[in-house]
Amino acid sequence: MSKKTKNTTDDEIPDLQDLSPLSGNDDDFLSSQKVIENHDLLEEIGVFKRIDTLKQELRNSRRLLVGALDIFNRTSIDAITDATVSQITDRFTPAFLLFLWKPLQSRREISIRGYKDYNQVDLGVSIDSFDAFEDFFRQYPKPINFDLLAFEIEDKAALAVFDLARPELVIPILGPSGLYGLILVGSKQREAGYDQDELLFMQQLMSFVSQAIQNHLHYQQSLRDVKTGLFNHGYFITRVADEVARSKRGNYASALIVMDVDKFKNFNDNYGHLAGDRVLEHLALTLKQEVRTDDVPSRFGGEEFTVLLPNTGRDSAWVVAERIRTAIAAMVVPWEKPLPQVTISIGAAVFDKDAALNPEEIIQRADSALYVSKEQGRNRTTIWSPEMKKCTE
Ligand code: GH3
Ligand code: MG
Ligand code: MG
Repeated sequence: MSKKTKNTTDDEIPDLQDLSPLSGNDDDFLSSQKVIENHDLLEEIGVFKRIDTLKQELRNSRRLLVGALDIFNRTSIDAITDATVSQITDRFTPAFLLFLWKPLQSRREISIRGYKDYNQVDLGVSIDSFDAFEDFFRQYPKPINFDLLAFEIEDKAALAVFDLARPELVIPILGPSGLYGLILVGSKQREAGYDQDELLFMQQLMSFVSQAIQNHLHYQQSLRDVKTGLFNHGYFITRVADEVARSKRGNYASALIVMDVDKFKNFNDNYGHLAGDRVLEHLALTLKQEVRTDDVPSRFGGEEFTVLLPNTGRDSAWVVAERIRTAIAAMVVPWEKPLPQVTISIGAAVFDKDAALNPEEIIQRADSALYVSKEQGRNRTTIWSPEMKKCTE
């Protein structure tokens, strides 16, 4: 092997944030004998100017790279858009910036985040769907001027929302599933339109932003159940494990609820599987409405659902479970013919630092309680207690 090069040790790897020249020292080069001897010639043929231009380009590229890393390191779309705005406003101030994206889970609305003068604001814009723009952006995948969009899109109602904002630039977020979102950039606040360099910068920066947003949307999708949009089994288990550790550290109790639709096989047999699916979708919506934002409502599989209730003791767990149970029993699900109401049975288990349990044992306890609810006639809640061990194990 050859000699170790100078920058292979960790402490000598240059910091990416440092935008000084990457290698060599300009002064060494400029003060070298040969350069001094040929100074006038080099000046005349534009070598120094060219060096300055290249240095500027290199600096811009590295700035972009540092910016891209910053954007990719963000862990939410809101944080991605915040980082993007701060990078743009380093250079110029658009009248506004608007990010629109569509979560990939079923039936989720388009999310919108707007900025004016560096601040996040509600720009009063809303849009139901990207359908009208899908074909257009497949044809024009690069950032475009709003006028082209206005000229080409036939669905003028879909365009009305952008007409209000009148963006100068429209940047599509395109990926394997088509159009994921749009980024709208207003005109520059003080100067005239964007020049070529600025357009190139926006195009490059936004291609990173687009990838980062797609990554995040795919990640979010991977945590969800396709049919109901609730969290899926895998994510639920991870969160239970986290919560077991956190409850122990924080010395507080948390609860886990397991629920199962009563006699759902009969329901499917009588009303069909599609009606059954519709019921499960509504059940999921009701479940989401009845829990707090910190709770984790999930589809455990089939017609079984679970909710993790962080920082919730036995009494509160009972109240939440009963609220969910009665809300579901009161649900009216629209269908081509009237559907009977469905009920669920619930089992719950509470865990804290004293019960040294792993997630599987806690789920097992909630399951045992659910079994008791079913045995005792269904449409009821049971919280696990130590006596249950005998009758269900
Ligand atoms: P129990 O009160 O004891 O829970 O009775 P049950 O009929 O609900 O229990 P069982 O486990 O025998 O049947 C579960 C049913 O749930 C059978 C299955 O077809 C239905 N099911 C599970 N997943 C889905 C789904 O995604 N869509 C529909 N429509 N039905 C489902
Ligand atoms: Mg079941
Ligand atoms: Mg069932």
